[in-house]
Amino acid sequence: MKNFSTGRASLIKSKQDNRGLTKGGKMRVLIIEDERRLADNIAQVLREREKYAVDISEDGLDGFYMFQSNPYDLVILDLMLPGMGGLEILRRIRQNGKTTPVLILSARDSTDDIVQGLNYGSDDYLTKPFDLGELVARCKSLIRRAYGVAAPLIRIGELSIDTAARRVQAGRRVLNLTGMEYQTLVYLAMRQGQIVSKEQLLEHLYDFNWERFSNVIEVYISALRRKIDPTRQQQYIRTCRGQGYLLDEPSTK
Ligand code: CA
Repeated sequence: MKNFSTGRASLIKSKQDNRGLTKGGKMRVLIIEDERRLADNIAQVLREREKYAVDISEDGLDGFYMFQSNPYDLVILDLMLPGMGGLEILRRIRQNGKTTPVLILSARDSTDDIVQGLNYGSDDYLTKPFDLGELVARCKSLIRRAYGVAAPLIRIGELSIDTAARRVQAGRRVLNLTGMEYQTLVYLAMRQGQIVSKEQLLEHLYDFNWERFSNVIEVYISALRRKIDPTRQQQYIRTCRGQGYLLDEPSTK
């Protein structure tokens, strides 16, 4: 399994391949893969290109523990792992009723393994060696599908979020958002009408070991409100006291 090669060239290639594809909000991905170099390459592309928060585990048992302890939007899972095999991890994930999309990576390309993986509830399957660009495209598609967002354009009232171009408009006005503001907005928009807690936002905006400051979310929300509607006539993002935030069509004042 050490013969997999992902050099600088494939990283550059993946950047070109993915131009124009959908960009979601900051999503959190868990990679369970014992080939460190491969895991690092995947993580680098997902972090730099897609701004995903990425955690890596090189051991099956540790990986399953991380999955249980943190909310993930996608799991990238190797099959042959120390500690616990990928198929067993997948079986346990589905046994616990979790529907988190799982993309299997495997050096094994026998039909049996593919069929078994799909039977156990994997959502997609890539055989090594693969192109990083294709991996990223499939990750994005799995995450989109999981949230039931087929089109890269999200419209809520006068607000439109073009996730392919990372462009947000309020009516005809294009908003100038920082990366974190944009990610906060997309995360809320993908859960339109649902209350999202501050903890959920923090967990999805930051990598596993990053320091967390509880007041940053208030800062992003307040900036977003100001930028979406400087006159404060319309309220898209509501504060649900003690529970979190909710983005929906504005109530007219
Ligand atoms: Ca392996």
